[in-house]
Amino acid sequence: MSNTSAPHAAPRGPSSPQPGRECGECNVCCRTLYVRDLNKPAGVACKFLTPSGCSVYQHRWDVCKGFVCMWLRDHHGLFADHHRPDQLGLILVGKSDDDTGQTRFVAHEVWPEAAQSPEAQRVIEFLAQFGPVKTVPAAQPKDQLHDITLTVNGKVIEPHAA
Ligand code: SF4
Ligand code: SF4
Repeated sequence: MSNTSAPHAAPRGPSSPQPGRECGECNVCCRTLYVRDLNKPAGVACKFLTPSGCSVYQHRWDVCKGFVCMWLRDHHGLFADHHRPDQLGLILVGKSDDDTGQTRFVAHEVWPEAAQSPEAQRVIEFLAQFGPVKTVPAAQPKDQLHDITLTVNGKVIEPHAA
């Protein structure tokens, strides 16, 4: 986190990207997360992911358009550039409980034990000031992320180099 002082409110904010911050080379949400609408399991690259990004970007599903991880959103300026999920190893999501209003966080590991690194621990401990943080273990080893065979329209393509 670039700023470790406590914000005035739980670090959530609007669900739109922080101006000037972009996913760039990161695509780990398209690899790591379970996407029900696409029947995509956790830990398996989306079949629409190509070396240059999402092959159906202009027509991607609403669930894809709507997903903005906490690093990308970061309206409180809490995260540094090197906390980008493909570098930190955690995809952070914040949710408010409808009944209590309490903020809860989910840290999806991108590779096994990513949450155990000192930097990841620091981020998790920081967020824990504002609500419980649940860590979801990675579904597959980091080195296998590069070995997934992707196909688009039946044609095998090279995996994206993360
Ligand atoms: S995990 Fe976050 S930064 Fe990475 S591609 Fe997804 S939304 Fe963008
Ligand atoms: S459709 Fe595109 S944006 Fe959605 S998960 Fe697949 S690659 Fe990612």
